[in-house]
Amino acid sequence: MARVVIAGAGYGGVVAGKRLEQAGQTFTMVNKHSYHQFITWLHEAAGGRHSADDYKIEITKIFRDPTCVVIKDVIIGLDRTASEIRGRRNSYPYDYAIIALGSAPEFFGIPGLAEYSLQLRSVETARQIHAHIESEFTAYKTDGDRSHLRVVIGGAGLTGIEFAGELIDWLPDLCSRNDIDPGLPEVQNLEAAPTILPVLPEHLRLKARSVLEKKGVRIRTGEKIVKVDRHTVHLESGEAIAAGTIVWTGGVKAHPLLSVAGFTCDRRGRAQVNDFLQSIDDERVFVVGDCAAFTAEGKPLPPTAQLAAQMGEMAGANVAAAIRDEPLQAFHPKIRGTLASLGRTAGVGVVVGVPTSGVLASMAKELTKVKYLIQLGGLRMISRNKRAFARE
Ligand code: NAD
Repeated sequence: MARVVIAGAGYGGVVAGKRLEQAGQTFTMVNKHSYHQFITWLHEAAGGRHSADDYKIEITKIFRDPTCVVIKDVIIGLDRTASEIRGRRNSYPYDYAIIALGSAPEFFGIPGLAEYSLQLRSVETARQIHAHIESEFTAYKTDGDRSHLRVVIGGAGLTGIEFAGELIDWLPDLCSRNDIDPGLPEVQNLEAAPTILPVLPEHLRLKARSVLEKKGVRIRTGEKIVKVDRHTVHLESGEAIAAGTIVWTGGVKAHPLLSVAGFTCDRRGRAQVNDFLQSIDDERVFVVGDCAAFTAEGKPLPPTAQLAAQMGEMAGANVAAAIRDEPLQAFHPKIRGTLASLGRTAGVGVVVGVPTSGVLASMAKELTKVKYLIQLGGLRMISRNKRAFARE
């Protein structure tokens, strides 16, 4: 039987695996953790809506034995000549590989940013952000320094805005538990561009801004972060903001493996793929999600979970077809909408072309979770994750 290796168990990787499983094709999945993470909902974990552990699931629970062999290893390279994916612990020979390693934070060379900011990247970093904010509030009780109560979020894309909404809804509880005046903490969301959430139509951007500002988030557009020190954010205007917590949500780039392995990449390090999601350099290597540079209607696709899952599905189907010597299918992305949560009960977005906001948008966002879990493994997956997916 052909050897198929899936590198990475993010959205693209696990959906590719489900597709291979359906086709009766065995595969090896190599991932640095033994679990799959619900990356798009990590803001909820960071804001303490549920325990961080509720936002992950063991990969072995997603796939049925004996279709999939799950290996916990950190992938460090890919040797195209030897047809091997290299991990820290072992090497994984393949006849077909699906590269689904996701993205890494983009720091744009801003001094101090990587060292002194936290990033919402994983269950562990969500847990770290949550614990850090709690410890800053405790520190305020000791020395009375107001900067402990200031959280600066760099970037007002979907990640920054969703985190700001979740955080502001958590603060009353945090203040009450620490006996802190709820009027004292401050959440600043700094955005270099003139507007937040450029992915949404203007009236929804305004709506999102107004909802968050009413809740107490200070949104500052046209403010570019140029340097970060320990507990200080420096703006292009010369202003320095002292903050106990600095969270960077200013953008992502592809996992570095692809450029290091010599694939033809775009400026964000994403490998160029053809219509079938094969690397243009090697037809036995399929690339999906944030790692793939796929152009549709003249524009590169954005690195989103819904597209990663769609690409994973197509890559899984195409690998199964290639093994059976059947024709491959071209990938046609379907952007079904974009939803941003604005805290625990509000949201904003566009669903199948229809703008939505408020509780309805929040509920639509919850439904995307259920839909995804059904895709992964049907109702058994929902019951396993009922805490994370229960409404407040
Ligand atoms: P992003 O690139 O979409 O947004 C980053 C923001 O940071 C931009 O608005 C940018 O102008 C700003 N920025 C960059 N440098 C700055 C600086 N020096 N100072 C201040 N602001 C600066 O990044 P993201 O929000 O992490 O999203 C990454 C991808 O993931 C996107 O494609 C997004 O659509 C997707 N995503 C989707 C969802 C969802 O569907 N709900 C949620 C999160 C992320």
